[in-house]
Amino acid sequence: MRARYSLSGSIGYNHGMVEKKGIGVFPGVVTGRAAVFRHTILENVEHSLSEDPQSELAAFEEALSRVLSELHAIKPTTKDEADILAVYESMLSDPDFLALIRENITERRYSASWAVEAATEKYTAALAALGDSYFAERIADIRDAEVRLLHAIAGVGGGIELTEPSIIIADYLTPSELMELEKSDILGLLLDSGGPTSHVAILAHSDEIPVILGIGDISTDVEDGAMIAMDAKEGIAIIDPDEKTLRSFRARKGIAARTEKELRKEAELPAITLDGHRIHLMCNIEGAEGIDGAIAAGADGIGLFRTEFLVLQHMDGESAYDEAARRMGSYGPVTFRTYDLGGDKVADGMSFEEENPILGWRAVRYCMENRDFFRSQLVSILKASSLSKSVRIMFPMISGSEELMDVIAFLDEVKKECRRNGIAFNEEMKVGTMIETPSAAITSDIIAKHVDFMSIGTNDLIQYTIAVDRGNERIAHLYRPLHPAVIRLMKHVAEAGRSNGVPVSICGEMAGQAEYVPLLIGLGFDELSMSAHSILEVRRRIRGLDMASCVDFADRVLSLPDATSIEKALKEFNDGKA
Ligand code: PEP
Ligand code: MG
Repeated sequence: MRARYSLSGSIGYNHGMVEKKGIGVFPGVVTGRAAVFRHTILENVEHSLSEDPQSELAAFEEALSRVLSELHAIKPTTKDEADILAVYESMLSDPDFLALIRENITERRYSASWAVEAATEKYTAALAALGDSYFAERIADIRDAEVRLLHAIAGVGGGIELTEPSIIIADYLTPSELMELEKSDILGLLLDSGGPTSHVAILAHSDEIPVILGIGDISTDVEDGAMIAMDAKEGIAIIDPDEKTLRSFRARKGIAARTEKELRKEAELPAITLDGHRIHLMCNIEGAEGIDGAIAAGADGIGLFRTEFLVLQHMDGESAYDEAARRMGSYGPVTFRTYDLGGDKVADGMSFEEENPILGWRAVRYCMENRDFFRSQLVSILKASSLSKSVRIMFPMISGSEELMDVIAFLDEVKKECRRNGIAFNEEMKVGTMIETPSAAITSDIIAKHVDFMSIGTNDLIQYTIAVDRGNERIAHLYRPLHPAVIRLMKHVAEAGRSNGVPVSICGEMAGQAEYVPLLIGLGFDELSMSAHSILEVRRRIRGLDMASCVDFADRVLSLPDATSIEKALKEFNDGKA
């Protein structure tokens, strides 16, 4: 199994090809020529005092009107695009922001570029300090406005000129830059930076453009016009592929398209084993943009909404929660996991250093010491619960019942405040916890007494049980989902849930890998939560399995001594040899 937050990197081949790895966002196999684009202006802002403030002011005013007229010329084709454009326009006509830039030029004698840069810094710092997700969202928009202004002041085109359909390679891309391009000209997108829920990823996703983000250095390593083969599902891009590699990518493209089409036809079918056991297939999403995929894959609800990704991308939580509640509530549970920030997910403003961040100030440990920040998320989730009875809340990284009860007590306090303030919410909203630390798994029989549901986060449970960092490729060979310690803990949690009448699901990556399904359902899990794309394959696997054989198989696995024997047994079972 690949670690979810794997490092990016490159592999060189003898014959000149180079393979780059990153985070695949929207799957797809593409080959084509590279159109390379780098933002260099920001790195080159000179901090020298101007001799002639009036001409700097004139340069700024001219740049401002050029950017505004460029924005007016963009014709949004979707609501997302229209919303983003509206934010840019309101930013560039914000009197305080503009006054600060003008003041920097006339009173402090900054150059026009420096004035824009300094005003942006001041603004973003002030907004970040508020710790409010609505204001945090605006930071990304201000940065986008800044890039456009700096380009215009420097008198260079901010956009990308494409002469033929191409794979766009860039250090990063702002949403407006993407919007300016003709969609049919974009074969794929490869970016040095970015996360799966950045604005640009959302737009590319809704336009069904294959994207790989976070590659690290691709924009400096690739020549404009170079041939590229990319597989966004695997997160792999090959620069200068040889003829054989190109042929294999083209073949993969054909196979991927055919398989996808076949699997999509089954999206309406229930996930029922051959002997009639129903398994609920839920979707993991990181933002409201994941809802379409969940619906298209026939998900039975949202098993895990990783809300912290909205914070990392400066996006508004409340509207995303509302949208998920409204659109997914009729399918089944909509599970908001409270912020799992910290560790490898550090947001702006969380400036603390730790020796062991993965064992450190993360998730509820961070939130419970930043109560205002946490309170505002809880209120947003409570409000969403008034839109659908299916909304439920789940706490990450719980290490035992005391910590869980403290968090639940805080939720109760926030509920009281909502009642006092006339904020409607569902009084019966279900409260659950992730089981992703060994201590929580071992004490799950005690924890179960305090919650309505539990969900096993195998990604963390594996790393903490075997003491193997899930993001460290050097020790990735030790990251063994089928380690008997992990399987035994999972079995213990399944039993703790059953004996207390508390449903238990799995929402780590293991749940989305079809080869593990016989073992997971055999251990007694009847709810699995995964990415939308995995639902299609997992559903097909379930429909070919017999539950009674899976239960026998899981019993046998529990007596095996090590990961190698379990892996071998599972392979034989999947190959129909056991
Ligand atoms: C997990 O740990 O398995 C999990 C689902 O949470 P995350 O991957 O977001 O840490
Ligand atoms: Mg986790």
